[in-house]
Amino acid sequence: MTILSPVAGKAAGKGSDDAPFWTGKPDAAAFTKIQDGRLAKARETVDRMLAVKGKRNVENTLKLYDEALIYLNVAGSQAGLIQEVHPDAALRAAAEKASQKAQAFSTDLSLNRAVYDALSAMDLKGADEATRYYVERTLRDFRLAGVDKDEATRKRIKALRDELVLIGQEFARNIRDDKRTVIVNDVSELEGLPADYIARHKPGPDGKITLTIDYPDSLPVFSYAKNEDLRKRMYVAYNNRAFPQNMAVLDRMVAKRHELANLLGYKNWADYITADKMVGSGKNAADFIDRIVEASAAKAAGEYQTLLKRKQKDVPGAKVVNAWESSYYSELVRKADHDFDSQSVRPYFQYARVKQGVLDITSRLFGVTFRQLKDVPVYHPSVEAYEMLEDGKLVGRFYLDMHPRENKFSHAAEFSVRTGVRGRQIPEAVLVCNFPGGEANDPGLMEHDDVETFFHEFGHLIHELFAGRQQWVGLGGISTEQDFIEAPSQMLEEWTWDAPVLQTFARHYQTNEPIPAALVRQMRRASEFGKALTVRRQMVYAKLSLSIYDRDPAQVNTDAMVKGLTEQYQPFPFVDGTHFQTAFGHLDGYSAVYYTYMWSLVIAKDLFSQFDRSNLLAPAVARRYREAILSPGGSRPAAKLVETFLHRPFNFKAWQDWLNEGS
Ligand SMILES: [Zn+2]
Repeated sequence: MTILSPVAGKAAGKGSDDAPFWTGKPDAAAFTKIQDGRLAKARETVDRMLAVKGKRNVENTLKLYDEALIYLNVAGSQAGLIQEVHPDAALRAAAEKASQKAQAFSTDLSLNRAVYDALSAMDLKGADEATRYYVERTLRDFRLAGVDKDEATRKRIKALRDELVLIGQEFARNIRDDKRTVIVNDVSELEGLPADYIARHKPGPDGKITLTIDYPDSLPVFSYAKNEDLRKRMYVAYNNRAFPQNMAVLDRMVAKRHELANLLGYKNWADYITADKMVGSGKNAADFIDRIVEASAAKAAGEYQTLLKRKQKDVPGAKVVNAWESSYYSELVRKADHDFDSQSVRPYFQYARVKQGVLDITSRLFGVTFRQLKDVPVYHPSVEAYEMLEDGKLVGRFYLDMHPRENKFSHAAEFSVRTGVRGRQIPEAVLVCNFPGGEANDPGLMEHDDVETFFHEFGHLIHELFAGRQQWVGLGGISTEQDFIEAPSQMLEEWTWDAPVLQTFARHYQTNEPIPAALVRQMRRASEFGKALTVRRQMVYAKLSLSIYDRDPAQVNTDAMVKGLTEQYQPFPFVDGTHFQTAFGHLDGYSAVYYTYMWSLVIAKDLFSQFDRSNLLAPAVARRYREAILSPGGSRPAAKLVETFLHRPFNFKAWQDWLNEGS
C-alpha cells in the first residue's frame, strides 16, 4: 500500500491540492482506495449541502455543490486516463471500475431531485455574471439529465446510463487491445519507405517483418510504399481494428442511447445531444454538414481528377483511384506539381526538437514558462512531467506521454486530470500521443502531420491550463460547449505552416540547418492539394456519427451507412470487407456530434484571421486571445467569447477562403 492522494487527506475547502496527481505510485488496490475516498468526500459534501437549513444562497449551497464536483471531477478524470494508458493490466482494470463508479455517482447526482431543488431555491442576489450563468447552465443540465421525470423513469435512465458506461469502456478496450499486424515477407516490399522506417523494422528470425497498425507504422505505408499490395493489406487491416468485436457493441450503444433519448422526451439521440451545443439541434447539424459538402464539391472533384490522371501515368487506362492509393498518389502529385516531397521535411522534425519548439512558441505567445520535473512519479518511465509558471508562480502542470506502446490509447488526445480552481488547486493535464521517437535506435523523425497533431493537442492543453483559474470547478478547464472545444486546438495548428515559426525549432537532425523558408512555402502550396477530399472524408465521419443517432436503431446498419456515405461524399470506391466504424472511438465519446471538428474549424479560421500572418510570434494578439477565449473556460457561452474576440459574430468567410486558397 502506498501514500494516499493529498485530496483524500485534506479537510474540505481548506488548503490546496497542488501535488502531482500520480503522487505515491499507487498499485491497483491503492488506486481504488484513493478514488473511493474521493467519491466518499463528494457524497459527504452533497449531504452537507442538502442538510443546510434556512434560506439557500451561493455561500451555503452552490459552494458545497461545486466542492463535491471537485472530488468527482478528479476521481473521474484520473480513472479515465489511467484506464487508457497504464502499462499494468490490473491498474487499467481498477481504473475502469473506478471510472464506472465515478460516472455512476455523476448520473445519480444528475437525477437527484433534492439537489436540483436546493440549487433552484438559491437566492442569487449579488452574484456575479459567471455565477449566474453557472447556475442557469447547471439547472438546465439537470433537466436535460431527466431530474424532473418521475421516479420509475429516473430509475430506467440511471440503469441505461450505467450500462452505457460499460458499453463505452468495452468499445474503447477492443480498440486499444487490438494487436493486429501486417506481415511483410521481404524487405523489398518496403520500397519507397524512408530509410529510418526500414531500419526500425528489422526482419525476425523467420526473415519476416512485422508492421503494426499504429500510426508510426501505418501512415508512412499509405504515403510512401510503392508496393500496392502492401498498401492495400495495411488499409484493410487498419480499417478493421476492433472488428468484428465492436460491431455488436456499437449496435448496443446506439440502441441504448436511442431509448435514453426517448425517455428524456427527445425523438432521437442526435436531437438530445445537440440541445446544449452551439448548433442547437440535429437538423442544424445536418444542414451544416450539407453546407460543407456543397462548398467542397467542385474542388473535391477536381482533386480526384488530378489523382486519376497521375495514376494513369503508372497504370494506363486506369478508371478509378482506390482508397489505399489516395495518400500515395497525393504524395506523387505534390511532388510533380508542387515540387514537394513530404519526406524532405522529416529530417527537420525530430521529435525532441519539435517538443522544444512547441514549448518555446507557446511560452513566447502566451507569456508563461515551462520547467521539466525530473523527480516526479509517473505511471510509465517514458512519461515526462512539466510545470507551467507565470511571473515565477506555479500555475499548472502537465505530462507528455508521446510514443506508442502496447495496450495504450492508440490515437492522440488531451486528458484533464485535475481542473484548476482559483486559489485552491492548479490544473493538471496529460497529452497522450503516438509519435515516432520512443525507441533508442530511432531518431524520431516526424511527418508534418504529426507536428500539426502535436500543436493541436497542445492547443487543448493550454486551453485546459489557462482556464484553470475560474472561481468554480464547473466553469473551469475545457467546459465550454462541446462543438467549440476543437477551435483553440485547430487554430494552434496554423503555427506549423509558418516559416519563421518553424525556423525557431525545426533544424536538420544531422546538419543542424534550419528548415529553409522555400521548403516551407512549397509544403504550404502542396498542402492545398487534397484539402477538399479531406474535408469530404471528415463529412463521411460527421454524417455517420449523426446518422446512426438520428433515427430508430432498427434502421441503423452501420456497414451499409459507411458504404453509402463513402460513396456519396467520396470519389474512391468503398473497399468491401472494411469496417472503420469499429475503431471510430468518437462514436462513443462524441456520439452524434463529430461535425464538431468542422464547426470548430470554421470558428478557428475566423479566430486566426485576427492574427498578423507576417508576424505570428507577436504576443499582443495572442495575449488578447488568451484573455478572451482561453482563460474564461466555460464561464460564458462560446458564441459570446468568440464575439468578444472578433468584435462580431463568427462567419464562414475565413473558412471558405482557406478551402479555396490556391485554386
Ligand atoms: Zn482535438
